[in-house]
Amino acid sequence: MIERCNKLIKAAAEKGIDAVLVMSQINWRYFSGFTGSNAILLITPERRVLLTDFRYTIQANRQTKGAFEVLEVSRAIGTSFIKDELKRIGARKVGFEDASITVRQFRELEQLDVELCPMSDDMSNIRRIKSAYEIEQIIAAQRASDAAFGQLLPRIKAGMKETDVAIELEYLLKRNGAEDLAFDTIVGSGENGALCHAMPGERKLRNGDLVVLDFGSKVNGYCSDMTRTIAIGEPCGELKQIYDIVLTAQLKALEALRPGISGGELDAIARDYITECGYGANFGHSLGHGFGLEVHEAPGAAKGVETVFEPGMTITVEPGIYLEGLGGVRIEDCCILTEDGYINPVTSKKELIIIE
Ligand code: ZN
Ligand code: ZN
Repeated sequence: MIERCNKLIKAAAEKGIDAVLVMSQINWRYFSGFTGSNAILLITPERRVLLTDFRYTIQANRQTKGAFEVLEVSRAIGTSFIKDELKRIGARKVGFEDASITVRQFRELEQLDVELCPMSDDMSNIRRIKSAYEIEQIIAAQRASDAAFGQLLPRIKAGMKETDVAIELEYLLKRNGAEDLAFDTIVGSGENGALCHAMPGERKLRNGDLVVLDFGSKVNGYCSDMTRTIAIGEPCGELKQIYDIVLTAQLKALEALRPGISGGELDAIARDYITECGYGANFGHSLGHGFGLEVHEAPGAAKGVETVFEPGMTITVEPGIYLEGLGGVRIEDCCILTEDGYINPVTSKKELIIIE
């Protein structure tokens, strides 16, 4: 945690910022280890202070393992402590999370009489590169997802509602070690599969459907993210065809993934192939996103993204084709860049699975 804070202080110093306030749960967890629901971190070159309320002081002391001074404060006293401390060190520029705080919180920060400098992007840039510990958690989360998917398949049959598929899957994710879901499970059957983020509903699986299943597990706060599209009985020719196109596009992008390629270049590999096959207009979302403590993190793989992949970054590879009224296909793996390539922790097979 101290190392992470030092990176933040270094990024701040480069912009002439004297102190940083961390006010979002994801970022205070990342920089201090504290998982409770109320905190502010004040990080300066000489002090790391975690302000929280009575409910959390013992937990905060345990989780920060001495890396932070834990102070018990009420909201108002917290603000006056911060004000005094900033005054004491003569801070003029203070970093804050411009992408996540509320207008009300911003008004409170304005009372500090300092120049407020946006630092959300700096924080996500630091979080982009995962440590060995973080990678282990992601792999463990994906292991739960693969195991759950394998156990789900024999339980799926025609006539089952999408919501029942989601309930079974979510139970199995937790049974296999997920402490929580990484995000709301997506189950899109038949024509619902054309909705990229289909909420599971009352629709019953029918023969000839493709079913898009997009789901993730969390382990120690870290998210995994995978999608598989399966068939209930034999699908029609066009659905089979788009399945093959999406699969080829995904494999082409995975083949190209390595440190040194940019998010834009990776996206183009899958997109150009899908476009050549005549379905460019039906692949409306980006190819992928980073993931970690949040399921969507930097960097991205999308048109025009110039960020070049580095070892330790994460990226999903998830092309899709969506045909209104007919159905959709998406295939997604969540990958972690290494020195000479990447780890793909997703082990579930990708050839079309047909449930008879
Ligand atoms: Zn996903
Ligand atoms: Zn995803």
